Amino acid sequence: MKNYLSKKARAITPYTAGEQRNDRKYVKLNTNENPYPPSEKALQAYRALQFADLKLYPSPDSDVLCRAIAQAENVERENVFCGNGSDEILALCFPAFFDPDGEGAAFADVTYSFYPVFCEFFNIPSVIVPLKEDFTMDLDALSAARAQGVILANPNAPTGIGIPLNKVEEFVQKNRDRIVIIDEAYMPFFGQSAAALIKNYDNLLIVKTFSKGYSLAGMRCGYAIGAVSLINGLKCCKDCFNSYPVDRVCQAVCAAAIGDQDYYANRNALVVKERERLSKELENIGFTVLPSSSNFVFARHKNLSGAEVYRQLRERGVLVRHFDRPRISQFCRITVGSKEQNDALLAALREFLR
Ligand SMILES: *Cc1c(COP(=O)(O)O)cnc(C)c1O
Repeated sequence: MKNYLSKKARAITPYTAGEQRNDRKYVKLNTNENPYPPSEKALQAYRALQFADLKLYPSPDSDVLCRAIAQAENVERENVFCGNGSDEILALCFPAFFDPDGEGAAFADVTYSFYPVFCEFFNIPSVIVPLKEDFTMDLDALSAARAQGVILANPNAPTGIGIPLNKVEEFVQKNRDRIVIIDEAYMPFFGQSAAALIKNYDNLLIVKTFSKGYSLAGMRCGYAIGAVSLINGLKCCKDCFNSYPVDRVCQAVCAAAIGDQDYYANRNALVVKERERLSKELENIGFTVLPSSSNFVFARHKNLSGAEVYRQLRERGVLVRHFDRPRISQFCRITVGSKEQNDALLAALREFLR
């Protein structure tokens, strides 16, 4: 039979998201969702929607939502761009800021595994810069790397390690002549966002999401903050692809959610508290846990492989994430859940470690 697929569609290996299993009920700690529900204000906004309005297209540039984000982030409306999940925005960043015949995009060897996929998809060279031995970001090596721009996750995934804001600013300053994209998906659990720096650095783009810190992974919404010229580049690429990526329901719900900072600050502080407890408990039973600034921990057991820990937990109804990749195959990435979920995880671990 004739193969009608393009060479790219035949050859590319796509990103693999965490599994969504339906064979039984699981304690799901594998995709870094927030254990708490979205804010009551978001629910009210959802209920206030007029169903009949769905016959109309939404605002193409998510106008009301961008205003709500601008207010919460203390920037101007024209410095904000919205997308269908931050993954979509990250995808748009590659054609917007990198050339196929340029020096490429520099990023860590151990980081969000979507970045190399985007590079391949858009034919942009990747420039891989290994993390240091202790899994921290090698900012000096990234600065020294020949590349058209740099992308880094802060806190990084799947390590969970954060870079302090003063180090980020130093880095952005040093890389003044090229684009620096910072994926702050986990910033609500670290609290050192570089978003305010966009006023001083027109080479800096911050990408954030409603999925983790706002308990809205099911809504699919993310945003970017940066200089107007960068926002226009994203807008241009978006309009070559999808004029209306953020639907009416999403725009209304997310605008209400980001207006409810108190609720989320409170809930995310509980996640951080649980993270510290979980890290200690894991250490007590023989795990090495990297210092996490996010809503997950990256942990390695002294006697068991990462694959074994993953498998044993799955058999006991607990899903975590294991990456069979160089440098990190000994580890599992475990989402910080509610107290009950974390206790279920610890009970399952104790059971098979006995
Ligand atoms: C979860 C995650 C995202 C994005 O998520 P969306 O749900 O598409 O907004 C982006 N970057 C990193 C590092 C993530 O872990």
